[in-house]
Amino acid sequence: MNVAHLLVDGSRRAGGADALVFGGRRTSYPELVDRVARVAAGLRRLGLRPGDRVALLLPNRPELVEMLWACFWGGFVAVPLNWHLHPDEIAYVVEQSGAAAILVSAETSAAADTLPPQVRIIRAPAATAAEAAEGTNAGTAYSAVPAARPLDMAAVDDADSAWLFYTSGTTGRPKGATLSHRNLAAMTATYHADIDPVAPGSSFLHAAPLTHGSGLYLLPAIGRGATNVISPSGSFSPGDYLGQIERHKITHAAFLAPTMLNRIVRDPQFATYDLSGLRSIVVGGAPLYQEDLRAAVNAFGPIITQMYGQGEAPMTITVMPPGDALAHPGSCGRPFGGIDLRIVAQNGSPVPDGSDGEVIVRGAVVMNGYWKNPKATAETLVDGWLHTGDIGHLDPDDGYLYLTDRAKDVIITGGSNVYPREVEEVLLTHPAVREVAVVGVPDSEWGESVVAFVVADQTLGAAELVELCKAHLASFKKPRSVVFVDDLPKNATGKIVKRQLRQETHLADRQIIR
Ligand code: AMP
Repeated sequence: MNVAHLLVDGSRRAGGADALVFGGRRTSYPELVDRVARVAAGLRRLGLRPGDRVALLLPNRPELVEMLWACFWGGFVAVPLNWHLHPDEIAYVVEQSGAAAILVSAETSAAADTLPPQVRIIRAPAATAAEAAEGTNAGTAYSAVPAARPLDMAAVDDADSAWLFYTSGTTGRPKGATLSHRNLAAMTATYHADIDPVAPGSSFLHAAPLTHGSGLYLLPAIGRGATNVISPSGSFSPGDYLGQIERHKITHAAFLAPTMLNRIVRDPQFATYDLSGLRSIVVGGAPLYQEDLRAAVNAFGPIITQMYGQGEAPMTITVMPPGDALAHPGSCGRPFGGIDLRIVAQNGSPVPDGSDGEVIVRGAVVMNGYWKNPKATAETLVDGWLHTGDIGHLDPDDGYLYLTDRAKDVIITGGSNVYPREVEEVLLTHPAVREVAVVGVPDSEWGESVVAFVVADQTLGAAELVELCKAHLASFKKPRSVVFVDDLPKNATGKIVKRQLRQETHLADRQIIR
């Protein structure tokens, strides 16, 4: 089944609701279906064939949504790219994916200048935020895409590629997790079954990049005829976000990274907004610390669903329903329906009940493999099991999963394992600590030593934080150094880039505590 059927189905269910809202600009469902089918036809006339890759490089815009669905519709493979990537990274992904065309906007067209000539450059209609705010439907034609009569939806195999999800690049070169029509359909069905069935009249607010998590959640939203609101502000700010919820009577916060949720909850004007229509906030993609979850539940009420997933099993490994969250502190929930999850030792054998090991999963959401990267595919997909690279344990009684860390982030100091997350959780209980990241750095005596990077609201002594850790953790887990910083480095999807912090640990020398 072509996953674009969700759009047709959603259009039938929408009951007159708009499909897309971007400031004052509204696109109805019938209009969206028509535009998607015409753009798909135009891509064919441009010479693209089913299976050809189309890179999407633009900020959150209606055109991104249209082209994504035009790719599904025409049997092309979408390669959504975060528009904040460096031109070299963009060039790498375009080349590695073998993209035949790239969609750019005014903000991103410069990156296209350096691409090889065989890559067709398609420019999105110039709709500035100001035009959108006034409600004008600015240009509707895509440069280079010939006008064409609507295309019949392409017949595809379930296993055909639909979306190359390039990993967000917290480590090494990005790899393209190849998601099939079946993977996306399974993700959507699972969302409806285990997160929310999406009642008629729902409206989703997309603030995280549509090229990643929020774009994946277009599928369950559109499949049920919900309205999708995209802020024309172009970049995330808590005030704009809360204002959009109030203005558009948003029912679903489509997907938020924990760092975004924290910023919203801490907004000084939070209490002044009417958020009464909001029924669901989905948070995931990075650890949601207990203190932050508590603060968010206090602010919003029990409407926060935490999910754990990765590009390789899009948005769908475990889920913590809103009602359960505070009863299982530190857990990211239980496997979604249809997900088989095990914890294994390095050699692949099962670990004793309740012990830490690597999380491996299988199910209909698990990717086909990495695009043109058989070596990485063979390392990651073993006998149908996706090796997530995440370390965690299952509660033997109730099956809740507790993620400790990425395997590569575990610190081995003096022969003992320290999971950064447990140190981070303790540091965050200090009222003046806003954000932390704990990393390991080479140490001639201990192998590695624990370094904490801390963003604090007021001046703090490192010794105070170390004492706090000693009061709650084994002494070998306490930070040997604390570095106070104004900000933590984050990648385009809001994840802390620990690799960069490890390179900056020479700063730690100033604060050594022994
Ligand atoms: P990406 O493929 O870029 O979305 O990154 C996925 C990775 O983010 C996972 O493998 C985990 O390491 C991390 N992650 C995602 N969701 C959670 C969560 N709820 N709690 C902790 N880590 C998470």
